[in-house]
Amino acid sequence: MSGIGYQDAVDAIVAAGRWLDGKGWAPATAGNYSMRLDDGAFALTVSGWHKGRLSPDGVMRVDADGLSLDGKKPSAETALHMQIYRLFPDVGAVLHSHSPISVGISRAVSADSYRLERHEMLKVLPGITTHETFVDVPIVDNAQDMSVIAARIEWLVESRELRAYLIRGHGLYGWGRDMAEAERVIEGVEWMFAAELAEKEFRR
Ligand SMILES: [Zn+2]
Repeated sequence: MSGIGYQDAVDAIVAAGRWLDGKGWAPATAGNYSMRLDDGAFALTVSGWHKGRLSPDGVMRVDADGLSLDGKKPSAETALHMQIYRLFPDVGAVLHSHSPISVGISRAVSADSYRLERHEMLKVLPGITTHETFVDVPIVDNAQDMSVIAARIEWLVESRELRAYLIRGHGLYGWGRDMAEAERVIEGVEWMFAAELAEKEFRR
């Protein structure tokens, strides 16, 4: 079984929180991060912590159903993390950012996806080797019931290849085989959104 040991996962999740907070993509207590462990369980951020100020106490263990294995309270969005691990057995880490630009795009675009096209940066996404392509980042409507969002994602997976998705007015989910790849996906997609915003400003 793939995955890493719990202590290594804690270190990677604490570091990811500092990095995302430094980018301005983890305001207040928003965002949640997780990793697949080598014993079949998962490491996940505890509900309510500021992600830039995580200590090992802010990380916990859950089972594949997202249920606490150590008495701590998991993030409200745990079900979305567990869905990604279930849908993609080779995924080892999931990150969720709340950047102003991601949220702005998800609110401004009424379509159910946003196309990133002909960016060199597309090549940071797994499986892409040329700028001469596009990725449609799905935008699903927000809900406080995670099972409603999860049902929308389940449908998307059947219809197209999925590397990241936006929840409208909420934030971005991205993932990878390990934390480094998940960070590249989040950073690359956030960067392309920012570049598109800059392009629109310059074109005015
Ligand atoms: Zn969120």
